[in-house]
Amino acid sequence: MMTDQLTFQNPVDRFPQISPPKQDQPEPGFDEEITPKADHGEESYRGTGRLEGRKALITGADSGIGAAVAIAFAREGADVALNYLEVEEEDAQHVIETIRETGRKAVALPGDIRDKEFCTQLVEDAARQLEGLDALVNNAGKQIIAEDLTELPDDQWEQTYKTNIQAMFWITKAALKHLPAGSTIVNTTSIQGYNPNPMLIDYASTKAAINNFSKGLGQQLAPKGIRVNAVAPGPIWTPIQPSDGQPKEKLPHFGQNTPLGRAGQPTEVAPAFVFLTSAESSYVIGETLHVNGGIPTP
Ligand code: NAD
Ligand code: MG
Repeated sequence: MMTDQLTFQNPVDRFPQISPPKQDQPEPGFDEEITPKADHGEESYRGTGRLEGRKALITGADSGIGAAVAIAFAREGADVALNYLEVEEEDAQHVIETIRETGRKAVALPGDIRDKEFCTQLVEDAARQLEGLDALVNNAGKQIIAEDLTELPDDQWEQTYKTNIQAMFWITKAALKHLPAGSTIVNTTSIQGYNPNPMLIDYASTKAAINNFSKGLGQQLAPKGIRVNAVAPGPIWTPIQPSDGQPKEKLPHFGQNTPLGRAGQPTEVAPAFVFLTSAESSYVIGETLHVNGGIPTP
């Protein structure tokens, strides 16, 4: 019997085992500038109408995991509002063009989510321009290494918490008045929330908080017909890594310590978000779906 090349693939070599050269960029890193290029599913993601007619707001949607989720959502039939930082316009335009090629609406809403007023405005603009809102993906994040707690600047601690968890509260709170029963919220947490790297004390602790936030809020909103879940990626090749998300000397081995033996690509994470956003996961609430190449979690 013939097997479909897309439906039957060995996960070990579905994507190449990359060994990124030492490289550096200031944060936020740009997708345009990472070597090797990341795969957001531009050529490969096939939709099957699982999110037909849905209206989604995705933060950090210009690059990496958020870009792959935005493309996948559009291919599944959703209109998408994309948030990212103003300096990331070029990366965002690539995603927006890819979405428009699928015939779906892509609304660009750049701005800094560390600002409470902006978060509220972002949700209002998304709901107005999409003519409603029924899916929220809180995915933007900040990850900067610091080897020693005494060298972790107070300002970095504050900015990491603001970006990763404070903004999630502001955006989610503002979104609730728009989300009808049947809506979904998916938050991006991390393997770091379970197995913290000692160089990522601030970042990893926000990710543990996101898990807990998702499980608590999931229970609170379930009776209203709104489901909250999370996705915990492992090592995924995105611009967050070469912009001080990892020590430079570790980049050539990035992701090679997973049971699969390679880093993941952003497009491999997107299906978890599609599943948790689509009505097919109607009985899944407060769950964290791990997409990490097989690293066991406690
Ligand atoms: P990425 O750099 O492509 O995406 C992060 C995005 O966050 C940026 O593109 C930027 O638009 C957004 N962002 C950061 N600060 C912001 C601010 N103040 N205002 C608005 N937007 C802001 O990297 P990524 O790896 O795709 O990261 C996406 C999410 O995945 C993050 O939450 C990250 O913590 C999480 N994650 C990544 C990995 C990984 O290995 N790459 C693993 C686990 C979790
Ligand atoms: Mg980016």
